Amino acid sequence: MNDCIFCKIIDGTIPSVSVYEDDDIKVFLDISQTTPGHTLMIPKKHVANIFDYDNSLARHVLPKIPVIARAIKKSNPQILGLNIVNNNGEIAYQSVFHSHFHFIPRFAASDDFAMTFKDNSSNYSSEELEEIASRIHKNMED
Ligand code: 5GP
Ligand code: ZN
Repeated sequence: MNDCIFCKIIDGTIPSVSVYEDDDIKVFLDISQTTPGHTLMIPKKHVANIFDYDNSLARHVLPKIPVIARAIKKSNPQILGLNIVNNNGEIAYQSVFHSHFHFIPRFAASDDFAMTFKDNSSNYSSEELEEIASRIHKNMED
């Protein structure tokens, strides 16, 4: 945990351009500024990713997402939309293993952020979809 760059940003060892902080979260500008205003929200408690949130941490951290989203949107009339991205695991493009949510303001279809959702719907029968949904449902916790 001592090597965690986001823990160092929380304790001030590594500088950051801070937007907001309270007992539970810190919000600061992502150094990459993929689009202008690209912001990160991190829990002050070190957890690697979303799989490590207990109910208490989730209740303290996740309700702040829409508050931050609205603040970013209101900060600049040129912001037309916002992608909120949370990468979990190296395969899912996580590179810093202290949980974080990206807020990426969108200005145009041709700005510097893009996502691809391939449509594979024709590969699945309704039975296969029900089976997938059921396996997920069985693993839901409180
Ligand atoms: P990930 O790829 O894990 O989802 O995102 C990590 C993000 O952290 C990247 O967008 C990267 O630009 C940002 N980042 C990495 N190091 C620093 C830093 O020292 N300061 C700030 N403000 N952002 C950082
Ligand atoms: Zn950390």
